[in-house]
Amino acid sequence: MNEQAAVRAQVRRWVAENWDPELSLARWRELLADSGWACPGWPAQWCGHSLPADLAVVAASELAAAEVPGAPEGVGMSLVAPVLLEYGSEELKRRFIRPTVTGVIMWCQLFSEPGAGSDLAGLTTTARVDGDIWRVNGQKVWSTGAATADYGLLLARTDWDVPKHRGISAFVVPMRQTGVDVRPLRQMNGHRSFNEVFFDDAELPGGNLIGEVGGGWTVAITTLAHERRLAASRPATAPHAGGRAWREAIEERVAAREPHKWYPQRAGRPDLVAPRAAEAGLDADPVIRQQIARLTEATMSARWTAQRRASAMAAGRNPGAAGSIGKLASSEIARQAARVHGSIAGASGMLASPDAPADGVIAEILVSVPGISIAGGTDEIQHTIIGERILGLPKEPDASKDVPFREVPR
Ligand SMILES: Cc1cc2nc3c(=O)[nH]c(=O)nc-3n(C[C@H](O)[C@H](O)[C@H](O)COP(=O)(O)OP(=O)(O)OC[C@H]3O[C@@H](n4cnc5c(N)ncnc54)[C@H](O)[C@@H]3O)c2cc1C
Repeated sequence: MNEQAAVRAQVRRWVAENWDPELSLARWRELLADSGWACPGWPAQWCGHSLPADLAVVAASELAAAEVPGAPEGVGMSLVAPVLLEYGSEELKRRFIRPTVTGVIMWCQLFSEPGAGSDLAGLTTTARVDGDIWRVNGQKVWSTGAATADYGLLLARTDWDVPKHRGISAFVVPMRQTGVDVRPLRQMNGHRSFNEVFFDDAELPGGNLIGEVGGGWTVAITTLAHERRLAASRPATAPHAGGRAWREAIEERVAAREPHKWYPQRAGRPDLVAPRAAEAGLDADPVIRQQIARLTEATMSARWTAQRRASAMAAGRNPGAAGSIGKLASSEIARQAARVHGSIAGASGMLASPDAPADGVIAEILVSVPGISIAGGTDEIQHTIIGERILGLPKEPDASKDVPFREVPR
């Protein structure tokens, strides 16, 4: 038996011995976390199996094929836990990895500020040492899911007297505490995914620092690389199996997806274009047909590029700036799809009521698509990354890069 077949057999055997659809989701997740199959590529002592990337993919696909609930979705599993595994102290891993894998705690990402988005290193929220704690003051914005999160991954300035990238540190911040005020924002598509988060002398235990003081920029870059790969990937489909564990998993998934339920529309819904053209009697229209063909070409090439990237990673190769290419492709496809939907629906595409085209989904597409070009780094920033890291062009000039942050005009 080769290695892949052996891993598949191990997963199948473990599921056969442990899966009971009537278990509570919490109990099932505990079993899964302790078995190491929840995240097979992670270290064995942290809910993983220490498998190399290619075998971890095989194990994960076998678990999905077994139709059992996996680890929870969201920022915790996809961004925070990988960052804690790489940079966190043993104490932080002990406190946060297992509860994140079992879904006991939820996370949000506290990076962007009113004056620091693309230029994230210009952030001014400050953490100051006070005895054996840190005190945090400042403001974050666009913090998805902060209203329901238990903890946040925070970037804060800990030194104003060194150049901007060197004075930032990363922390775990408990969201439900005195000094942290979360205020939801309403978007132009009517949803409330984002929040402003205000810090007014919020206290953090010294041990909540991730990595070294001043090492926050490395943590930020790692987090953003994970985020770009996610933005380019496709959401998992919903399962249809029965039993208590699945019922609870689906409830959890619906709640976790609440802030993101417009994300399919954010991606432009290329899947709806051909059926909408047929419904509107425009599937024989030569201009619409050309637009649909171009969109399909772009969608399929992006899918193949994503598959090449996944294979490279599974084979243990560094995908480099491929996340930026995938993210840029997602933005372009979303915009193209919105244009085709607009051509098909005409002015009625602007109607948002349930009796509007596609129950108002077209209108939601038109006002949600701009979000994909902004989240996780704008299109212009992806162009810069590709220019510098793939094409080897000279670095973008930044006059504020080498001076103490305190002296940078704001
Ligand atoms: C759906 C969504 C979810 C998000 N979730 C979170 C979250 O959970 N946590 C969080 O911290 N943030 C989150 N954000 C915020 C996001 O990271 C920022 O909006 C993004 O980094 C851009 O920053 P900004 O909005 O300040 O725009 P700015 O940086 O002010 O950019 C304004 C315009 O200027 C352009 N620009 C800026 N600098 C350059 C340059 N050097 N070269 C060329 N053009 C440039 C930009 O491309 C853009 O067009 C989210 C955003 C969206 C849309």
